[in-house]
Amino acid sequence: MDQIEAYFADMPTVHRAAVLFGGLAIFFIIENTIPLFKNFYNKTTHTATNVFFTLTTVAVNFVMAFILVAAALWVEKYNFGILNWIGADPLIASTFGLMMMDFSGAWLPHYIEHKIKWMWQFHVIHHTDQNVDTTTANRHHPGESVIRFLFTTAAVFVVGAPMWLIFLYQTASVVLTQFNHSNLNMPSFLDKLLRIVFCTPNMHRIHHHYRQPYSDTNFGNIFSFWDRIFGTFVIIDNTKLVYGVDTYMDKKEASNIISLLKIPFIGYRDPIVYDNEDSIE
Ligand SMILES: [Zn+2]
Repeated sequence: MDQIEAYFADMPTVHRAAVLFGGLAIFFIIENTIPLFKNFYNKTTHTATNVFFTLTTVAVNFVMAFILVAAALWVEKYNFGILNWIGADPLIASTFGLMMMDFSGAWLPHYIEHKIKWMWQFHVIHHTDQNVDTTTANRHHPGESVIRFLFTTAAVFVVGAPMWLIFLYQTASVVLTQFNHSNLNMPSFLDKLLRIVFCTPNMHRIHHHYRQPYSDTNFGNIFSFWDRIFGTFVIIDNTKLVYGVDTYMDKKEASNIISLLKIPFIGYRDPIVYDNEDSIE
């Protein structure tokens, strides 16, 4: 446990980059070897768009990283936050702390982004992808990257997270999001087993179905139990899914980098109301 703590406390930047791009490469190979959807979309253009938004996400997090460091030092100095108040040992901090970071730094902001109009206009860029694969994982508008960063910082104060826990959380978060967005056709028994604890591809893909109520389910990133607890957990046959978001189905608008960057600033589009005939359950 001490070694894990020591490693993540001083995790080299090159290792963090290796997790991000190594993870992308590994899941890219796996999903192309055992794909769920065998669509012949232009992978080069699709990957280029998503890598662009991955790099803007990295840039936002890099520029603002000093704020996270300052927050971690502050909670340590003033013994602030849940882990400090309960005097958690490293084992408790790495499990319970990771769960709380996943909730307050990922599930909660993601849920809020779906409910508050101006936040949705930033988050919708993530949902406009009509070919979800592992590169979709970090397809976030720079504005959304800032929103998520601020929630993660708030989570550090609530949780009382030390720097090593923040790095551990960010590493787990990156790997799990690449995994649960991948186009991997995982054996059903394995997906079922893993999703007792973790968000799997069969679970998260449903969140990317083009219409409500499916896009308002399965908000989780690392752990699957937040959706179970808050009643947003759904499992349906993934082969019936259609990716994208109904208000932005124009292919050019949903794939052109400039168009995507403009979306938050061109006005809110009301959600489309459906009757139950379109249900895929
Ligand atoms: Zn979403």
